[in-house]
Amino acid sequence: MSLYAVLGHPIDHSLSPRIHEDFAALTGRIVRYERREVRAGGLAQALSALAAEGGLGANITVPLKGEAFALAARPSARALRARAVNTLSWENGVWIGDNTDGLGLVRDLTHNLGWPLRDRRVFLIGAGGAAQGIVGPLLDAGIATLTLFNRTPERARELVAACADARVHRATTGGPAAGPPYDLVINATAAGLSGALPAFPDGLFEGAMAYDLMYGPKARAFLSHARAHGARAAEDGLGMLVEQAAESFRLWHGVRPPTAPVRARLRAWLGGYEL
Ligand code: NAP
Repeated sequence: MSLYAVLGHPIDHSLSPRIHEDFAALTGRIVRYERREVRAGGLAQALSALAAEGGLGANITVPLKGEAFALAARPSARALRARAVNTLSWENGVWIGDNTDGLGLVRDLTHNLGWPLRDRRVFLIGAGGAAQGIVGPLLDAGIATLTLFNRTPERARELVAACADARVHRATTGGPAAGPPYDLVINATAAGLSGALPAFPDGLFEGAMAYDLMYGPKARAFLSHARAHGARAAEDGLGMLVEQAAESFRLWHGVRPPTAPVRARLRAWLGGYEL
């Protein structure tokens, strides 16, 4: 049976094993997919151990996407652009790195939610591994502007510089730099992991769509704040999670699994909470 794992910290509540087992069942495969607790600095050792056990692939989550990029023997074009890796494949004795986060987000927004991106003004909170993975695909989808804000301003500055695109600006703490109004506000921070609302400039949400990469109850603080401050719609990142996983599955198994039944099953399973 082929072995795969999701590596990161915290990892206890990762839904990736459940998603990949569903994909495997839907496509007639048998896979073993584990959660492995790996803290910052521990990825090289964890990957050696996985390879020694016959592991063929790994998903990489908080806080290891930059570390995975540094360790990947051959990063894909998507990973190079993001400078972050969320999917590793063991091929010919080396780990190949890719990044499926951006594709997953764009597919959830446009295909599942029906939120068009062309000519939209987007405000992005966060500049970590997930934000790095989504900025390129958002720009490719034809957005009009991308305004970035991060708790640590230097990291936002670096991400704006790395984009090298005139549509991308940095918001300062004094207030939004290029707006409002915004059409879409995305939370790509890890603040929700501790139930916190990240800091951001005032006046972002009036008439906007709000999207949190976090999913389930951990997205509640951001999404209810957005609704209370005038957002037209607010959605969590469960759809993105399933879509980025489907792209990882395609890279590993050569087939794209159906995502709608898996998303519906997870939503029902997570049920009992108000977003
Ligand atoms: P990361 O590389 O560790 O970066 C964390 C980001 O969150 C940084 O921008 C950090 O700001 C910010 N942050 C953390 N705590 C904060 C707080 N209390 N207030 C304000 N900002 C805070 O993590 P990541 O890989 O980018 O992941 C970010 C989140 O996205 C995670 O919660 C992850 O679960 C989620 N995610 C979801 C999906 C999905 O498919 N739905 C995919 C990828 C990621 P500083 O730079 O100031 O530290």
